[in-house]
Amino acid sequence: CPVKRLRSIQRVCSQPYFTELQLQCAYYMARYYIAPLSACIRLFMPPGGVGKVVRAPHGEPVAGGAPTPVPVAGGTPVVPGEECVVDGARDGASVLATPPVLSIDTTLPSAPAPAPSRAWIYRGPVMHAQQDTWLEITPEGAAYAPPRNAHRQSALLDALRAGPLLLSELALQFDRATSTVNSLVKKGFITKTVQAHSYALSNVNQPHYTRPFQLNEHQHAAISCITQCMDSACGQAVVVDGVTGSGKTEVYLEAIAHCLQAGKNAIVLVPEISLTPQTVARFRGRFGNMVALLHSRLTTKERFEQWQSIYQHHARVVVGARSALFCPLRDIGLIIIDEEHVETYKQEAAPRYHARDVAWWMAQQTAATLVLGSATPSLETLEAVKRENWHHVKLATRANGAPMPPITVVDMAAEFGGGSRSMFSRTLQQALVHTLQHNHKAVLMLNQRGFARFVLCRDCGYTPECTHCSTKLTFHEVNHRLMCHHCGYSAPLPAVCPVCKSPYLKKFGAGTQRVEAELRSFLSQQIELTYEVPVVRMDADTTSARYAHERLLDEFASFETGAVLLGTQMIAKGLDFKDVTLVGIINADTTLNLPDYRSHERTFNLIEQVAGRAGRDVLPGRVILQTYNPHVLPIQAAAHYDRSAFITGELEKRRQFGYPPFTSCVNILAWGAQKEATRHALEQFRVVLMDHLASKGCTTWWVSDVLACVLEKVREIYRFHIFIKAPREAAVSAVLYELVRKRKTVAGVNIAIDVDPLSV
Ligand code: ADP
Ligand code: ZN
Ligand code: ZN
Repeated sequence: CPVKRLRSIQRVCSQPYFTELQLQCAYYMARYYIAPLSACIRLFMPPGGVGKVVRAPHGEPVAGGAPTPVPVAGGTPVVPGEECVVDGARDGASVLATPPVLSIDTTLPSAPAPAPSRAWIYRGPVMHAQQDTWLEITPEGAAYAPPRNAHRQSALLDALRAGPLLLSELALQFDRATSTVNSLVKKGFITKTVQAHSYALSNVNQPHYTRPFQLNEHQHAAISCITQCMDSACGQAVVVDGVTGSGKTEVYLEAIAHCLQAGKNAIVLVPEISLTPQTVARFRGRFGNMVALLHSRLTTKERFEQWQSIYQHHARVVVGARSALFCPLRDIGLIIIDEEHVETYKQEAAPRYHARDVAWWMAQQTAATLVLGSATPSLETLEAVKRENWHHVKLATRANGAPMPPITVVDMAAEFGGGSRSMFSRTLQQALVHTLQHNHKAVLMLNQRGFARFVLCRDCGYTPECTHCSTKLTFHEVNHRLMCHHCGYSAPLPAVCPVCKSPYLKKFGAGTQRVEAELRSFLSQQIELTYEVPVVRMDADTTSARYAHERLLDEFASFETGAVLLGTQMIAKGLDFKDVTLVGIINADTTLNLPDYRSHERTFNLIEQVAGRAGRDVLPGRVILQTYNPHVLPIQAAAHYDRSAFITGELEKRRQFGYPPFTSCVNILAWGAQKEATRHALEQFRVVLMDHLASKGCTTWWVSDVLACVLEKVREIYRFHIFIKAPREAAVSAVLYELVRKRKTVAGVNIAIDVDPLSV
């Protein structure tokens, strides 16, 4: 019923919603990613979308005839039938919030929303937003003790007892911040003050800004490269290549300062998971109220406030996750993408864009400078350094001079041969005890990607591999077969290892809980340890509320004794403790054996990143890496921090098997509730596709059969795909775009095209 979707409006927006450039960008994305234009335009829309006024204040609903303008509070008359921006305000006229556009591509089923768990509050330096809500505790609130199960309320009140807080920053770490706040406001325990600043643009020159240290020569070189690019204003890219802690963020801050001085504005994209109060504090600390913050935990109204402050030129530095790229910032001089190799920069629903590639398009159009920072730049980026002459600057060392910790590779097959059944090698056991005896801390990573199961021989480390594709075969519970997700090859699960005849073929995918149990039992048996060692587990279960991982890290940091943090790859991010001296990687093989052309790159990156967590300060660190494949390139190269050896070898492999960056890949996905109907629809599509390619003369394109996806069935939805490898220079999008227009739709089956997919 449309009346249920009625919203109130605050003011009628008579200005255009986007700039010419943004509209161009939407067209570009629709064409390149073969996505509905509507879905692309939607990215640029103000949060809350656009609606039509159906009822002015105290007015009649629109029912034909001439609408009469009715004044609203601000004095702007509202005409029923008129378009307006819905920003969630409660008073004023009623609006029928229509989706801005009609045909929106249905997206793949996503995981169920995580249940909120405990709340946690960070108190950083006081920050200033351009328009935000200050929260303060009332005398009644100061005396109030909430019921025991009201975790969020007590956490919030505790935090406010120490002083006022801003709502937008609270929302970064606090699940359902607004509703908690509102319920406490209703009870009179806290007050809300909406504050709009006057914008002091004179602080662009930051006369008072002093850094407590001198930038090093590498940082100076990086900064001057970026500023030269900005000054020449011809749309260039600079790759800032430096390990975590090498001072990249300082480089970004200087670059932004230069950009603002030149009268231009800047966008900084950060992976959602790194968008913590600590990160934001560094930008706000330097640029104060010129910083707008866009992230997924803001309510529509809060996001609209941030959007508006950008739209009205108040905010000039936008810090946010992937979609902040589409904010209404004008005169963009600089786009920074931190940790550019992170896969969440690619959107998994239509339009399936990659923020890095769209940012590069924007930089070229606006003559802005694109800065890509990473400790492990992606092969695509390194290839662009060669092919497009991107600049490449290196921050060779950690800013504080701490060396990278040595990595010891432990061959688990040899351990197993020696009679050990434990998932902890003797080397790791000894190192753990030694570390904890000295009251230092250890981090153990269980490298895990829930869904893909593979088979491994515990005696010789053999993993069945496809003879046609150089990818590992995946075990499918449904039919007890090993399958290749690239070419469709399948084989029965062997009873013994075909190489060494061992019967110990293990299906891999151990959970953190099992490892935790084994760890606790191991620790309790160590008589050298005179205290009960705290173990903090960090995985999808314990961090279901986003940023709950911050709270766990806090807990881990708070122990005065030694402690162990056990977690999945999420621990590779943002962990910075002075007393962590040991990092153990329990199974480096998991990502290695994913049926995916990027699995080696992921493995290498992950090892380098986790390794960077040890010995970040004066205490030296060490890393122990357990694997059944001690001699493969990604493990050997990572153990020696030899990135160039890895890249050379990996590029050679990609060239040989025809993967990006040497080809352009496309994944065609089909999903539906009826298994056979879905497969059939995709098979039909493939017939049309082959005809189309033949008519276009695309004879060198390689097109797979219709294959089951790695995740074949998700919540009763069946998924199939076709994988295409085309020559790099082929106009892939243009060719396929025409095809999509030709194809017939089949009821109950969705088909989507993923250009430049990140995993196939
Ligand atoms: P990254 O972004 O590469 O992880 P940061 O910019 O966060 O690195 O720097 C890591 C730490 O080192 C921060 O605490 C920062 O203040 C400090 N730092 C950065 N540059 C220097 C420098 N030239 N001298 C001393 N400390 C520095
Ligand atoms: Zn074997
Ligand atoms: Zn294959």
